Amino acid sequence: MEGHALRQIAIYGKGGIGKSTTTQNLTAGLSELGKKIMVVGCDPKADSTRLLLNGLAQKTVLDTLREEGEDIDLEDIMKIGFNGIRCVESGGPEPGVGCAGRGIITSIGMLESLDAYTEDLDYVFYDVLGDVVCGGFAMPIREGKAKEIYIVASGEMMALYAANNICKGIKKYARRGGVRLGGIICNSRNVDREVELLRAFSAELGSQLIHFVPRNNVVQRAEIRKRTVIDYDPKHSQAEEYRQLAQRIEENEMFVIPKPMTQERLEEILVEYGLMDDLEDNYEI
Ligand code: ADP
Ligand code: MG
Repeated sequence: MEGHALRQIAIYGKGGIGKSTTTQNLTAGLSELGKKIMVVGCDPKADSTRLLLNGLAQKTVLDTLREEGEDIDLEDIMKIGFNGIRCVESGGPEPGVGCAGRGIITSIGMLESLDAYTEDLDYVFYDVLGDVVCGGFAMPIREGKAKEIYIVASGEMMALYAANNICKGIKKYARRGGVRLGGIICNSRNVDREVELLRAFSAELGSQLIHFVPRNNVVQRAEIRKRTVIDYDPKHSQAEEYRQLAQRIEENEMFVIPKPMTQERLEEILVEYGLMDDLEDNYEI
């Protein structure tokens, strides 16, 4: 198959920003384009694939290894979800035991040895938790596995702080490996002037706002039914937004080593877009 290349993509962003929701909806969108996809959940919460699996309890790689030993089959850890999307959850160690990133390292190793990275795949998505890229959570990009990263952010200050910190990590690994930032996905929190703010923020990083996903309660309605919006209400405007995001990623050609900004510069931008009062005032308590 000439010109066919597997794209491995890591999705990063602050906890609760909407990584798993966005990843599942956008992969559902890509699947409608006929793409073959695997989603690897890299969060000990193990909720990266439940909307694709309609809530089917997915046993994590770490739990499977714990209970069944090393002798496992690919079907034990990979379940087929919406439109044939292959779903894996790394899982994590018991709370307080060991590094939470260990599951990812183990899982990727396991997927490799069980030949999960088949020729027909167009995309592998890693849904990775964390505000910073470190230790095990850097694994998908550290070893040059995922060469492409998208950061989910919003106009909220902490989401932008996290995104900027993640860029510091990407920059570090980009020097050694080939990892690049493909863009910022805004998952809206209905902050004033959010699109403009996210555009300015992305430009400052030397990157782009790849898509603005509106906030919409249909996401919750679908979630309660354990479905992506594309699955639950395919004609809804929100489903169309996720299809557009999928299309933008499919066609993306802008891959950069991000230029993280100083805290001062980030705060300047926040002030400029009215998210913060003038900093001088904030210190006069
Ligand atoms: P993360 O994986 O980053 O921790 P989640 O994907 O689990 O975050 O999202 C957290 C919550 O935010 C979810 O319960 C989901 O219902 C909600 N959510 C995410 N995106 C949207 C959106 N665009 N509109 C409305 N609710 C959303
Ligand atoms: Mg998640």
